Amino acid sequence: MFSPLATEISAGLSATAGLALAAGGCAYAAMWPTSQLFGPTLIAPPRPGELALTFDDGPNPVWTPRLLDLLASHDVHATFFLVGSRAQAQPALVRQIVAAGHLIGNHSWSHLNLALSSGRRIDEELSRTSQALEQIVGAPIRYFRPPFGARRPEVLRAARRLGMLPVLWNAMTSDWKNPSADAIASQLTHKIDRLHRQGRAANIVLHDGSHSDTAANRAPSLAAAAQLIAHYQSTRRFVTVSAWK
Ligand SMILES: [Zn+2]
Repeated sequence: MFSPLATEISAGLSATAGLALAAGGCAYAAMWPTSQLFGPTLIAPPRPGELALTFDDGPNPVWTPRLLDLLASHDVHATFFLVGSRAQAQPALVRQIVAAGHLIGNHSWSHLNLALSSGRRIDEELSRTSQALEQIVGAPIRYFRPPFGARRPEVLRAARRLGMLPVLWNAMTSDWKNPSADAIASQLTHKIDRLHRQGRAANIVLHDGSHSDTAANRAPSLAAAAQLIAHYQSTRRFVTVSAWK
């Protein structure tokens, strides 16, 4: 028979374990890119023949123009999730991205972790960015990618209220930490091929800018993109995420 003390300890332990599980589940729902617990997000459909190259944290005056040249030389279209404050500083570059046939999306104004932000701040970050982008390009912004993939129900609701579909990803590596192009390309190729075996398209994240360091070197990310295009161009179709929704 349990003593009252033992029962209390045991109840305390399971409450603690339950809380830890709940916290783990919450972190999973908030941060794991393919989690749908906080509402549907666009990742990638069951179309193994398709790849979407997506570039985050631009526009960057050094790297984005070079990336546009690379994509144009292979006739590949990509999706750019732009940081609003950076876009406002580079309106001509934003127009150039769109004029080249690429898709742009909202990546918040200042690249905050929105899972930790107030409802009011979330609204400001998203609406200010969409307004700025819409003013620059004269067309509505339909896609949103949360910075760091961080979200909670309010973040997704705010995006939908503004007419945007939240977009996550299923193929990413730490390209922003500046490893070699070969390392980035081989890690992504591994993920893309695994998704292909699973019958899925790949929604690939690379970075042409940086939310924290305007002088960040994105040469490896661009060279990795070139390698992926060379590797897959004859067997897969490169699409923007608007092909999926
Ligand atoms: Zn980002």
